[in-house]
Amino acid sequence: MFAAIDRQLTVDLGGRNVQPLYAAARNDEPLVAAAATPLFAAAAAGESVVLTTGFPIPPSNEPETDGPLGTVALAGALADLGAKPVVVTEPRVEPAITAVADALGVEPPETVSLAPSDSAAAAKTARSLLDREPGAVVAVEKPGPTADGSYRTAAGEDITARVADIEPLFAAARERGIPTVGVGDGGNEVGMGVVQSAVEQHIDNGETIACRTPVDALVVAGVSNWGAYGVVAALSLTAGRELLHTGPTERELLAAAVEAGCIDGVTGEATPSVDGIPGTIHADVVDLLGDICTTEIDTD
Ligand code: MG
Ligand code: MG
Repeated sequence: MFAAIDRQLTVDLGGRNVQPLYAAARNDEPLVAAAATPLFAAAAAGESVVLTTGFPIPPSNEPETDGPLGTVALAGALADLGAKPVVVTEPRVEPAITAVADALGVEPPETVSLAPSDSAAAAKTARSLLDREPGAVVAVEKPGPTADGSYRTAAGEDITARVADIEPLFAAARERGIPTVGVGDGGNEVGMGVVQSAVEQHIDNGETIACRTPVDALVVAGVSNWGAYGVVAALSLTAGRELLHTGPTERELLAAAVEAGCIDGVTGEATPSVDGIPGTIHADVVDLLGDICTTEIDTD
């Protein structure tokens, strides 16, 4: 079932060539299972889980609709299982986190602000978050640094001045032995360091945009929100409980994110869409994921 979830997540509607990244990331275990394991353990132990998201889209630099929805859905599921989620993001993204949580009907997660392009503050914030001894650190559609340390959009535009320097958090988590999880869909997100050479080889602008930052468990998806929902689905299967929202709710989350200032990362428009894909399809993806977690399927 975990492998089937992986398959569903990697339907490449955006035409990004995610399959070679998936193949490079996959080991013995389905990706969603590998990601869910440390998260489930953290929740069972009542630990905090640090999550980060928020991708500024030039020229307006409003955050995109991919990331906040998946992050809030995952934070909500983890809180339901006993974890204390903390979302660290740029001030510009915080209203979307709160709005999506309200639309989901969950307590908004605690948020911690991280100013763009301030490496000293990023290192200090990383230390204070990790001093809470979180059970895991998670990135969902979060720009990660490339080989030269710059942060890039999928088209290769330099957004270093507009985005938080998140690498110190993941580097320090690794040093302290705290499990790290990353969800991405294009190769320029935190975690893609695991498949950096595949990104360089198979993704448009790959040599310019490939993120160098690795994680312990990388989830590759056609859309990053789907990747986070897939991890929620894997947590549902592990816990034997329904933790994922429904398709109609997905449309409400998307409307709330747009109302809070998010835009489509591909079109740049303030429409209820993610990566150029209309909301109806995201709702369908959520419903299918939820249904396959809760329906007995006879495979004989
Ligand atoms: Mg992306
Ligand atoms: Mg995306």
